[in-house]
Amino acid sequence: MKKLYIDYDLFLRPAEKDQPHCSYVLRPGNDGPACLREEISFLFACRRCEDYPCVNSCPNGALKREAGLIKRSGFLCISCKTCSIACPFGIILPELLPYLAGRCDRCIGRLKSGEVPLCVSSCKNGAFRYVEEDDLKGCPDIYPMGDSIIVKVFNWLGSYGIKK
Ligand code: SF4
Ligand code: SF4
Repeated sequence: MKKLYIDYDLFLRPAEKDQPHCSYVLRPGNDGPACLREEISFLFACRRCEDYPCVNSCPNGALKREAGLIKRSGFLCISCKTCSIACPFGIILPELLPYLAGRCDRCIGRLKSGEVPLCVSSCKNGAFRYVEEDDLKGCPDIYPMGDSIIVKVFNWLGSYGIKK
């Protein structure tokens, strides 16, 4: 089965001109790749601090823990970026905190019509690909994110002996 593949390291380092585009039309200026980056950050790079300084720093209650994972409410977040400063590991990048919440719908419409996701076709550095899941078997640092996305990311939690 084909899935969206994201190489997190490459994704973090594209030059400005290489930023992948998003096809989501319902919100002008929507940055779907930024939503994915936030999702990946909280799921795979967040160190699960015992005292969660990010959550405690938010003046508007926009961050919460759900089963150990950080979630940010796009409705409550006022883009003050306090959490970005509070996180000791640089997980919450300021550019991931837009005032207007974005979203990624996994390009459902494009996939139905046989196209690849726009982030894939517009990505210049190979950070986004559309690949057969079986072709990645045995590759290191590969993790599923939901049903339709595969992420290549360094296992920070594993390096601390914590299971993802
Ligand atoms: S940027 Fe948003 S989530 Fe972060 S501290 Fe400010 S209101 Fe809270
Ligand atoms: S402060 Fe940073 S590393 Fe710690 S729980 Fe929050 S996002 Fe994760």
